[in-house]
Amino acid sequence: MRVKDRVAIVTGSARGIGAATAARLAKEGAKVVVCDVSGQQCRETAVGIRADGGEALAVACDVTRREQVKDLVQKTVDTYGRIDILVNNAGVIRDNLVHKMSDDDWDTVMNVHLKGAFYVTQEVQKYMVAQQYGKIVNISSTSALGNRGQLNYATAKAGMQGFTKTLAIELGRFHINVNAVAPGFIETDMTKATAERVGVDFDQFREMAKERSVLRTTGQPIDVANAILFFASDEARFITGQVLYVRGGI
Ligand code: NDP
Repeated sequence: MRVKDRVAIVTGSARGIGAATAARLAKEGAKVVVCDVSGQQCRETAVGIRADGGEALAVACDVTRREQVKDLVQKTVDTYGRIDILVNNAGVIRDNLVHKMSDDDWDTVMNVHLKGAFYVTQEVQKYMVAQQYGKIVNISSTSALGNRGQLNYATAKAGMQGFTKTLAIELGRFHINVNAVAPGFIETDMTKATAERVGVDFDQFREMAKERSVLRTTGQPIDVANAILFFASDEARFITGQVLYVRGGI
């Protein structure tokens, strides 16, 4: 029970890495708030967590909408009385080469990753500051180091690292740790969509990713969830402003 009775918000937690993280935190004793845009799929995620003996609340929230973010935070506090852990996980891809990238591709990716993380963090940190306790984990990506066809996404994910380091400096005095996890190839709907876009069968795409990993394997959502759990727990008490790559040594 590494996060027993802690209250956690995981954005974009209906599926993939977010859902695995919510379930992992709940297994370790946290009360988790799961959210996605429609609120439908995250309700199923919450039902699954409760069926496993955990505590979960589902809230519809588009992180790019300030009013919806305020509502998410208010519902969390009304239900559980505090917020100890925030995982800024919600994400989308709109891949294209620079000469083909539309304004909408650029804006959508910037808005979900950067503006979304800013909105949720700004609303949540007030409670963490008042409590003098908090753990914020931001999801960056190996793409932050540069990746063909992902100018918008790579820029946003590099931005998440600056966001992490600056928040760590500003919020450290309030006993709030801020770290980032930067995954490599993780098998989720997102990597399936990438395979489809480049016109490669997913099994073949996975094999290509395995060859690039020194461990000769791909990542699963639980591999990222385990790293997030570490940063969200008091085991990481003396660690802040760090980026942990979870990418099988690619
Ligand atoms: P998925 O596509 O499987 O899931 C993304 C989740 O984000 C969904 O629940 C989706 O909700 C939610 N989401 C999207 N837009 C919004 C929004 N505006 N507001 C709230 N929620 C939103 O992605 P992954 O699980 O693969 O990715 C999770 C995170 O990890 C992302 O930040 C991604 O960039 C990052 N990442 C993933 C890697 C990978 O290989 N998979 C590698 C590196 C980083 P809905 O169902 O309603 O659309």
